[in-house]
Amino acid sequence: MLSQQRYRHFIDGEWAAPDTDSWFPTYDPARGVVLAELARGAAVDVDRAVLAAERAFTIWQYTDGIERARLLLKMAHKILDEKEHLARLESLDTGKPLSQARTDVDVASRYFEFYGGIADKFGGETIPLPGPYLDYTLREPLGVCAVIIPWNYPLQIGARGIAAPVAVGNTVVLKPAEEASLTTLELARIADEVGFPPGVVNVVTGLGEEAGAALVRHHRVSHVTFTGSVEVGRHVAAEAGQHVIPVTMELGGKSPNIVFASADLQRAIPVVVRSIVQNAGQTCSAGSRLIVEERIHDEVVAGVLERFKALRLGPGVEDPDVGPLISDRQKARVLGFLETADKSGQAVLQAGELPSDLAQGNFVLPTLVDRAPLDSQVVQEEIFGPVVAVSTFRTEEEALTLANGTQYGLVSAIWTRDVGQAHRIARQLKSGQVFINTYGAGGGVEMPFGGYGLSGYGREKGVEALRHYTQVKNVCVHTGV
Ligand code: NAP
Ligand code: MG
Repeated sequence: MLSQQRYRHFIDGEWAAPDTDSWFPTYDPARGVVLAELARGAAVDVDRAVLAAERAFTIWQYTDGIERARLLLKMAHKILDEKEHLARLESLDTGKPLSQARTDVDVASRYFEFYGGIADKFGGETIPLPGPYLDYTLREPLGVCAVIIPWNYPLQIGARGIAAPVAVGNTVVLKPAEEASLTTLELARIADEVGFPPGVVNVVTGLGEEAGAALVRHHRVSHVTFTGSVEVGRHVAAEAGQHVIPVTMELGGKSPNIVFASADLQRAIPVVVRSIVQNAGQTCSAGSRLIVEERIHDEVVAGVLERFKALRLGPGVEDPDVGPLISDRQKARVLGFLETADKSGQAVLQAGELPSDLAQGNFVLPTLVDRAPLDSQVVQEEIFGPVVAVSTFRTEEEALTLANGTQYGLVSAIWTRDVGQAHRIARQLKSGQVFINTYGAGGGVEMPFGGYGLSGYGREKGVEALRHYTQVKNVCVHTGV
């Protein structure tokens, strides 16, 4: 188990010091103090990792599916065996409440279980042809998959970034976010301990513009999965385009809860609140917009504020309802959005007060911006904090115009008791996932996940992800006359 103050890369089954002997600090966001030092990966470290992954691929791609499955399932169990340790580390590193971190551990384990369950069952198809032919497809792995992830859910996103490609015979080099790398290093250690061959799972830590950029540029990488901001995503996709490799882009969102007057508000309001305060709003699929039918506006806003008031803020390891944001930079960014909304005359509403002992941390009170116009910044831009923008509608058509009125399209939720209406709207939403009378469902491991528009392309999670981590070979046989 990791306990050192300096964390090295994990390359080719070993802890590897950075070639340049450069290190950088990672912080505890609740107290603003240095937690540990991480290896600052450079192109030379990335090169070592990619070449190790490439060597491992020559064997791993032909390893029987059942052997891969067994290792993935062992990994799922070992993650659960270490649940408390992993949850504490995730909570400390990211600031998220301990119970959310425990859920993240469960979901991380579930990814390995899910993909372990299918590793020996995922294949091609036979295609009927006229004449004396047998035609079939093989689904073959791509090679070395680069996985670049953000800081908000390192365990969950790291787990799916490893489990899915590895299940179908690829090898992985993962670059975690500089703010929160510790638990992905733990995943690499656990992979090694349960018996994954050296080089199948590698983690190189470092800065995006150094280690991340070198990984995307590396000519032996065959696929990039990028989870992060639109801005960096554009850059990564352009770079991958240079050597014509596929990418899966999981970018941001501006996901709405659409609440009709017929909805069961007793059920809807707590879920609406959870969808925006979970992980202090730093979730790509956060319910950051609330689109509510005009005649229930006052009731819904009052209900949301009442729940905001009851939320307890505090350091993640004390298991509050809402933890700090990841960094002082992120806090300043969120407060900047609120200032702009306030200056432009929108009602910026908070309930309760921030306890004075939390002033040193990166805390932001859950906030509702009422009656925000469709073209306003709080409605159009991803804030990545506990801030929900409220708009109202009178007709179904207006609700759809608002819901589809941003460039994003990751998740939407419809709250109504009218079944026909629910499905009618689900069809018309520009959104990769639609929930009806719920928001999220467990970790959503089984469901295809990805966006429309600026939210990205390609899909992670579920069986769908495996289609992206394989390429199809068609084999056609003349069977004689
Ligand atoms: P980010 O700045 O885009 O960073 C994401 C990752 O890319 C980090 O590991 C980062 O490294 C790395 N990176 C930065 N510059 C790079 C470059 N030039 N080449 C290669 N890699 C580079 O995003 P973030 O601020 O960490 O995360 C927040 C964003 O992620 C939000 O916009 C959110 O919506 C999105 N997100 C999306 C999903 C989804 O599934 N759709 C899930 C979670 C988050 P450093 O950390 O060292 O900069
Ligand atoms: Mg940290």
